[in-house]
Parts: sequence; structure tokens; C-alpha cells
Amino acid sequence: MNFDVSKKGLKISSSVTLEITAKAKTMKANGIDIISFGAGEPDFNTPENIRKEGIRAIEEGLTKYTPASGIVQLKEAICNKFKNDNNLDYLTENIIISNGAKHSIYNALLAIINPGDEVIIGIPYWVSYPELIKISDGKPIFVQTKEENDFKFTVTDLNKVLTNKTKAIILNSPNNPTGSIYTKEELKQIADWAIKNNIFVISDEIYEKLVYDGEHISIASLNENIKNLTIVINGMSKAYSMTGWRIGYLAAHKNIAKIISNIQSHTTSNPCSISQYASVVGITGDQNNTVEMKKQFEARRNYMVETINSIKGLSCKKPKGAFYIMVNITELKGNTINGIRINDSLDFAKVLLDEAKVAVIPGIGFGNDNYIRLSYATSMENIKNGLHRIKNILEK
Ligand code: PMP
Ligand code: GLU
Repeated sequence: MNFDVSKKGLKISSSVTLEITAKAKTMKANGIDIISFGAGEPDFNTPENIRKEGIRAIEEGLTKYTPASGIVQLKEAICNKFKNDNNLDYLTENIIISNGAKHSIYNALLAIINPGDEVIIGIPYWVSYPELIKISDGKPIFVQTKEENDFKFTVTDLNKVLTNKTKAIILNSPNNPTGSIYTKEELKQIADWAIKNNIFVISDEIYEKLVYDGEHISIASLNENIKNLTIVINGMSKAYSMTGWRIGYLAAHKNIAKIISNIQSHTTSNPCSISQYASVVGITGDQNNTVEMKKQFEARRNYMVETINSIKGLSCKKPKGAFYIMVNITELKGNTINGIRINDSLDFAKVLLDEAKVAVIPGIGFGNDNYIRLSYATSMENIKNGLHRIKNILEK
């Protein structure tokens, strides 16, 4: 059928990260011995205290509509978190709780974008940024970053693409897919630039609890002017292994938060009441599980970086945070593996899936075809097996 459907909708691609993750899970369920480095999803169970609180919420009938922008207990817990972790003072009127950080980013864009406004993002970018900008009637503007600069953009890069249509930048530190972290000095320069040009900063800090080298600083905490221009994004998925519970949140100036609250009241209404109560316990309760998960991620990262750099044809930098490694595959391009020519990251990802039974995300999903992304949100045993398979197929 040839339906007269939305032209905008037709231009939106599906999420390659979610697609490959789902494909690997299905293959596994069908008995195929697949090892997945695809998932951007902690492999740990949600901590027990959080699970129990979810059950309590169900048993006690906390299963009704809540205020559209979230329950006050969770907003207060989030305000305290911002104060303690990020030295940021927010009131509950600044906080909006949504169905995951992805939803929070979408809400942020809807609140600030007018048709044709430009939003700057760095390449490699997290898959959903360009699509979310397009859905919000904005135009994604890309700045290429370099591996030798830790995949970070600078004010010089931003100035090259600045126009009178520039409305916002998306900053993601710690970064998916590169694991890079912006230093305080780098953030200061970006903040000064944003203030000077009156540009919003959407600061996606979802990986803040997963920092192995250096420290996480929220750009909003640098001064009052940049705080007013920044929409801080965070959520429960990564820090508390709660991907399926769908709770994300943002902090913004109250005028922007109000717009978002209004929009959300007509689109999704409140995020799941049960998940909200469970999140209060996640944020205010014992943080040992988060610390323990981080320790395990760090050990996996160290093993992976060393092993990848010992495999002929592959190389990578040591990421400082999150749980991803961008593996440089430029040396492989033009070679054949099992009779299949490798021209780009899709070819290599396909060979790894079909011939080595290893799932990875092709770099093109993040805008850079010279890489594949490996997630280390999987067990050490899987990591060892998976890397062994990759090594075998490359050294054959
Ligand atoms: N931002 C980044 C950089 C991510 O990698 C993810 C991945 N899940 C999200 C936001 C969204 O997370 P969620 O919607 O599960 O909270
Ligand atoms: N953010 C994760 C990733 O990049 C999960 C998938 C998604 O939300 O796109 O793999």
C-alpha cells in the first residue's frame, strides 16, 4: 500500500542499538550461541531494595495516575541528589520525571526548538540524538571529533558551525559511544561560548556514576548563567540497572520545566507510578550496588582495552567512563575475511555476527564508519569468549 503518511516520520530511522540488541537476544533465545557486545544495558539485576519497593508500591495500591511531571517524593530525592553529587541547587519546580532519559531529551528539545532551529552534536554521537532533533523539527548540525583529541569538540569546532539558527548543543559526558569525559576547563570554555551566544546546552549526564578516570562535572554547576541555559538530563537506567523501568529526569529553568510539564501532560501523562516509587529508594537508598557495578565495569574495561589492542587490525583508546569502547577498524578496510570484503563498519559487524557469532554496533550508527562499538555491559566470561572469537576470525 502507498499510504500518504508523515514525510517527517519517513525520515526517522530505527535505533540501530536497540535493533541489534533485540536481534542478538532473539538469536540467543533461538538457541544460537551468540555473544553480544551490543547492549547499552547493564547486565546486573535491579538491586533488591529497589525491586522490593516496586512490589510494595503495587501491593499498597500506588498504581494510579500521579502528577504528570512526577511525584514530589522523587523530585525531592532528585533535588538532593543534584545538591550532593553535582553541587546544583534546584527546587522541585525545576524537575520533570519522564519515561527514560531518552524521553527527557525529547521533551527538552520540544520545549526549545522552533522549526529549522539548529542543534549541534559531535560525531560520533549517540544514535538517538539526530533523530530526536529531527522529530522535534530541528536540524542536527554535526561537528567531527578526532580520536587523538579523545573524541571531544572544542569552542573552535563549535564556532565553525555557529549560525543565527543555532539553538542548542547536546553535550554528553561521560560519552556514549566514546567513553570520553570533558574536563572542568573544557566545560568552562563551552559554557562561556554558550553564554556569549545565548545557546542552550542539553547536558546528557546519564553515565555520571560510571567514571573510572577523572571526575564528572555538570556544566550547569559552573555558574548561574550557564545553569539557566542548561537542561540537565539524567536517569535510573544505567546507574541502577533499571533500563526496563523507564525512569529518566531533567532539571531546567522553571519556565522551561513548565513548558515540558504541559507537553508531557498531553502526551504520556506521568511515568509509571510503581517505577517512580522504586526510584526514590534507588536514589536515596544504599548506593553500594552502584559502586559494585562500577568496579566490575572498570575491571572489564581494563581487560578489553588490553586485549583489543593485542588483536591485529584493531585498536582502541582507553575510555574514561560509561561502558563502551570505540574500536578503530581502519586497518581492516579493504581486506577480506572468510571471502567477504570489508569496506565499512556495517560489513565488519555483519561478518562478526554471521561468521563469529558476535554482535557489535557498527560505527556508522554513531556517524563514523571507521569504528565499531563494543559494550562491556556483559559478563567477563562473555567478554573473554567474544574477544577470542573476534581474534580467531581476524587471525585466520
Ligand atoms: N542518553 C544516552 C547517552 C544513552 O546512552 C541512553 C541509553 N539508554 C539514554 C540517554 C537513554 O536512556 P534511558 O531512556 O533508558 O533512560
Ligand atoms: N543507550 C543504549 C545504547 O546506546 C541503549 C539503547 C538505546 O537506548 O538506544 O546501546
